[in-house]
Amino acid sequence: MNYDEIFKKVKENESLSRRDALKMMALSPVAAAALASTGAPATANASSSDATGRVVIVGGGSGALMALSRLRRALSKPDITIIAPNEKHVYQPGQIFVAAGEYDPEDIIFDNTGYIGDEVKWIKDEVATFDPDNNKLETKKGTVVEYDYLIVAAGVQYHYEQIEGLTVDMIGKNGISSVYLNDLAAGTAEGGTITRDWFKALHEAAKTSKPRVICTQPSTPLKCGGAPQKILYLSDDFLKRDKLSAEFTFATAGEKLFGLPEIDAALHKVQDGYGNITNKFGHELIRIDAEKKIATFHHKYQVQGEFDKDLNEYDMIDKEEDVDMEYDFIHIVPPTAAVDAVANSLLGWQKGTAKGWLEVDRETLQHRRYKNVFGIGDVCGIPIGKTGGSARHQGPIVVGNLISVMEKKEPTLKFDGYTVCPLKVSYGEIIMAEFNYDGLAPSFPLDPAKPRWIWWAFDLYMLQPMYRYLMLNGLM
Ligand SMILES: Cc1cc2nc3c(=O)[nH]c(=O)nc-3n(C[C@H](O)[C@H](O)[C@H](O)COP(=O)(O)OP(=O)(O)OC[C@H]3O[C@@H](n4cnc5c(N)ncnc54)[C@H](O)[C@@H]3O)c2cc1C
Repeated sequence: MNYDEIFKKVKENESLSRRDALKMMALSPVAAAALASTGAPATANASSSDATGRVVIVGGGSGALMALSRLRRALSKPDITIIAPNEKHVYQPGQIFVAAGEYDPEDIIFDNTGYIGDEVKWIKDEVATFDPDNNKLETKKGTVVEYDYLIVAAGVQYHYEQIEGLTVDMIGKNGISSVYLNDLAAGTAEGGTITRDWFKALHEAAKTSKPRVICTQPSTPLKCGGAPQKILYLSDDFLKRDKLSAEFTFATAGEKLFGLPEIDAALHKVQDGYGNITNKFGHELIRIDAEKKIATFHHKYQVQGEFDKDLNEYDMIDKEEDVDMEYDFIHIVPPTAAVDAVANSLLGWQKGTAKGWLEVDRETLQHRRYKNVFGIGDVCGIPIGKTGGSARHQGPIVVGNLISVMEKKEPTLKFDGYTVCPLKVSYGEIIMAEFNYDGLAPSFPLDPAKPRWIWWAFDLYMLQPMYRYLMLNGLM
């Protein structure tokens, strides 16, 4: 059976057995192993609950579709409405491979309609306001929708405008790029192709000069926190393969390359191998002068003060300054927040570091104040990276716990914080950083800090079809 046959079966609402899936995965031993040891909690059984109630899902991305497909199978009498503007679905991890020239742009855009069953009411609009006290919401076009249960999967919103002097239409011109750029409502992902052209322009410039390249990372939470460094290493390697070079600066608001010490050390080793990367930690991009090609960063740092005899240590004094850096090419990662409809509603955290993100319990994914509301994916205000890998692991938890609540039981399934970052450290090698709330959580008994070609092959060739045919259909 090939992918199209499998997809046809799924579209026709036939269930795809684990055996069929394994047959497909037999195309790749790695992928078969990945499926067999997925680590994700079990799928809810087909039609396992007779619970009833109006369920509304908000969003049309990874989390929404993963929850929808599981819920359709788990309820014998589903009454589901999905509010999602997009008829096209963007496979966002693939934007990196488009930038690297490994995928064509069309490889990452799928038709959304096949994932949304005929019995599901689809409102092609966006939520403007949530009114959780009255179990209702209103869309941008003014439709009021009442619900008994709500799953919020509205993802994130980029804030390029927070960088003074930058507008979205400047991306792709004057040496400015951003692989993140996409319009999920329209089902487009320009960031990949723009960054692919940026790679080529950089390559061309490096033939006659040593261009200055800056890759940025903001202080806000990000989708796939490793993506800024993927562009750094892939663009450097893109030159290196042809014995060309540039001066790379990684200007990050963070203080480390990666939160986990083992992966952080591995990435420093990768950078040593390139030998042309300077890290600027504590640097947040705040302004850009595209004509003069000057980027301004707000730099926060500490200096050692007086020795405190009582504490037996030196005082550390906080300092800050604005720093101008000239560049020839710059890759910009946008500041990111929860979508406005959530951030401006009672559903968001009202204070604290997660302010505006959906206030769900980090394990049950149930809203902490509105017990008939659940969250999945990037919108959740939980202390872990925002990835499709997390959404995949959250799917069975959200659906299982929602059904418990519909059956008037307590939610008992717990999300362990699983997330994954396939760090593309060169063409052909990936460090597969898998971790959860407790630290590193590799799915395979392999050193997770080691760059491996097998992860590159897996990510490039198998993950897209697995995502498209299995994950979005809630089959893994
Ligand atoms: C460049 C890049 C590289 C990445 N690499 C990886 C990777 O290697 N591995 C990995 O696991 N993940 C990766 N990710 C992250 C992954 O794509 C996301 O974590 C995942 O898509 C999250 O799913 P989601 O459903 O929460 O949000 P999304 O898939 O972003 O979907 C959000 C949906 O909500 C809709 N929406 C927005 N506002 C509203 C509203 N008001 N009302 C209704 N609908 C609304 C949008 O139109 C969209 O359909 C990457 C992302 C990017 C951008």
